[in-house]
Amino acid sequence: MKADLIARRISVLGATGSVGRSTLNIIADQRARNGEDSLHMVALVAKQNVADLSALAHQFRPDFVAIADTRYADDLSDALSGTGIAHGAGDAAVEEAAAREADWTMAAIMGAAGLRSTLQIANRGGAIAIANKESLVCAGALLMQTCARTGAKILPVDSEHNAIFQVLDPARRDAMVRIVLTASGGPFRTWTLDQMKTATPEQAIAHPIWSMGAKISVDSASLMNKGLELIEACHLFDASSEQIEVLIHPQSVVHGLVEYADGSILAQLGPADMRVPIASAFAWPDRIATNCQRLDLVQMAHLDFEAPDDTRFPALGLARSAMKAGDTACTALNAANEIAVEAFLAEQIGFLDIAALVDDVLNAGHPDGGPWQGAPKDYNEVFAVDALARIRAKTLLKQYQH
Ligand code: MG
Repeated sequence: MKADLIARRISVLGATGSVGRSTLNIIADQRARNGEDSLHMVALVAKQNVADLSALAHQFRPDFVAIADTRYADDLSDALSGTGIAHGAGDAAVEEAAAREADWTMAAIMGAAGLRSTLQIANRGGAIAIANKESLVCAGALLMQTCARTGAKILPVDSEHNAIFQVLDPARRDAMVRIVLTASGGPFRTWTLDQMKTATPEQAIAHPIWSMGAKISVDSASLMNKGLELIEACHLFDASSEQIEVLIHPQSVVHGLVEYADGSILAQLGPADMRVPIASAFAWPDRIATNCQRLDLVQMAHLDFEAPDDTRFPALGLARSAMKAGDTACTALNAANEIAVEAFLAEQIGFLDIAALVDDVLNAGHPDGGPWQGAPKDYNEVFAVDALARIRAKTLLKQYQH
């Protein structure tokens, strides 16, 4: 464990979310082990949780703090007065935070909103610990091209992709036959379609294994999360959707597997604690110690795997076909899903309507009548497709609202 290889200038975008908090937990632990000055905090960003963001700023003393929601600009100024910490509010402030030089940046802003800041990081180079799925789902090809140009290094944080990243040997990439992403199956794994029809947001959010935000918990319940992860994996590991298999693995102990030409399968196992993949991405290519609970395989006794049920969980198939159609369709899929999940959480539509609405938006195509296909030329086109798909989704949503 060579300390000099560990990143020293750090930024955390999406600091008050679940991944952001786990990241800061690791950074605090590293500071406690190696000294307060061992890691310098460059920037902290949050959407609207001004109280927690201010507390984190006082704790970590970053150079710059940004809050995306301008309604909290004054609150942030008040909370940071006298600290000498520079700060700002709104999209421009978030972009400034992302553009500031750092060796290692956690990109954990949720949703399509995280796309712009991830691009900023990719443009300036350095290591990007990427937890924002949408950056890869909506603009995977563009992001990978940008990183190749600037030398920015993508370190996947999503537990499954981090697992694959750990076991996929780039020097043996040609011998890779298949990637397996595991899914816990979520709270509705054993539910019937009839039960799922009347599932409430509370039931969908009650994830059996992982403790996560509401949006991603619903995505896990519908398996759309795994669909988005399949698209992510195609970009990250330069694989076709046919090379990626999804297996339901209720214990969530094996996070990802890679099969090689000789029949060997290498897997990464770990506790269901996001601090493990975050620590792996943080220390890469080295390892650091964490306070995470260790896996007890004897107590575990057995591990189960089953094929996903396409009838009860159509989201996976939708993601596969979007991936085949290209980044534009993936952007539309993601946008439609965000609208659908929002409506489900607001109790306007049923649980099964989420995938049905996404399917409708994919089938309906552009508001001008053309299909969602091909790859966007630039980020502006990604944002334009995202906006069009949201309009489409909001119109089609009406038929499901009760
Ligand atoms: Mg995941």
